[in-house]
Amino acid sequence: MALNGKRTKALALLSGGLDSALAVKLMLDQGLDVEAVNFVSPFCLCRKGGCGALEVAKHLNVPLKTINVGEEYLKIVRKPRFGYGKNMNPCIDCRIFMLKKAEKYARETGATFIFTGEVVGQRPMSQHVTTLGIIEKEAGLNGKILRPLSAKLLPPTEIEEEGLVNREALLGIEGRSRKKQIKLAEELKVTDYSCPGGGCLLTYREFACKLKDLFEHKKRVSLKDVQLLKIGRHFRFKKNKIIVGRNEAENNLLLRTKTANDYYFEAQDTGSPITLLQGPKTRTAIEKAAGLTAYYSDRKQGAVQVNFGKEKLDKSLIAPILNQKEVEQLRVIGQKASSNNQR
Ligand code: SF4
Repeated sequence: MALNGKRTKALALLSGGLDSALAVKLMLDQGLDVEAVNFVSPFCLCRKGGCGALEVAKHLNVPLKTINVGEEYLKIVRKPRFGYGKNMNPCIDCRIFMLKKAEKYARETGATFIFTGEVVGQRPMSQHVTTLGIIEKEAGLNGKILRPLSAKLLPPTEIEEEGLVNREALLGIEGRSRKKQIKLAEELKVTDYSCPGGGCLLTYREFACKLKDLFEHKKRVSLKDVQLLKIGRHFRFKKNKIIVGRNEAENNLLLRTKTANDYYFEAQDTGSPITLLQGPKTRTAIEKAAGLTAYYSDRKQGAVQVNFGKEKLDKSLIAPILNQKEVEQLRVIGQKASSNNQR
């Protein structure tokens, strides 16, 4: 599509999933120049980051800008104006945040408008018609966001009214079923590159419990704190956080991530996890951390010598192995969610 002889440039919010890939293809087919942005947050589950967005962008031959969101995003997650979804996912605030960032990038790069792969009614929290309106308004982009997959179900945007895109060639898909998108993907020869392990940790109950506990007990939460939530078994004893590694890789990571104030623990003469103790180093807290280390060691009964210290294991105590009830009482995710956990 050209205006005054100049091709219109549009900026896509590209997650790497099928819907946003289809939206890009529809815009390319209307003759627009398309660039894409992909947001990577500390809560993205994709191991590589980007959740397939890079592959989609390559496949569709559009330039891709990856925007990493960190501390600023953490503040939104901690105090969302529009609340949380089922777990700790502040989807409405998250979309507003990303659209604002995208709008800034669009201005810098000369894109005339932004479009997304959102489908009306697909997600309970953020994709209702009214919520889409709130998100646009709050992002300062009222009537300026195009959703090519559901456009015919929504009021015409400024983009359509100005004739920058042909509304007739846009779609009216709604709901959670993906059948129409899959059929369209075949017709348009678009491949779904979504990362199989992709998604957002904030929507997972167990992770949400750990994050909630962190917010409740720590005023200043860093990205490193969030990284730590992704590994190990997490326990809370008053002001203390105790993290027990589940395998060698996590043990090594815990040792690398520990701060100068944390104590670390290891059982002697038996297979042992590494345990971190954060918070005040009271006698009881040390005993709990040692008891958990003993519980997760290879020793199944009796008492275990557990060594601990800040920089090296220069202290020790004989710790009785905690019983399962004591362990579950300390566990952050609570009895119910942990019932499937192995030791
Ligand atoms: S699921 Fe996560 S990434 Fe997606 S909108 Fe909600 S908070 Fe944002």
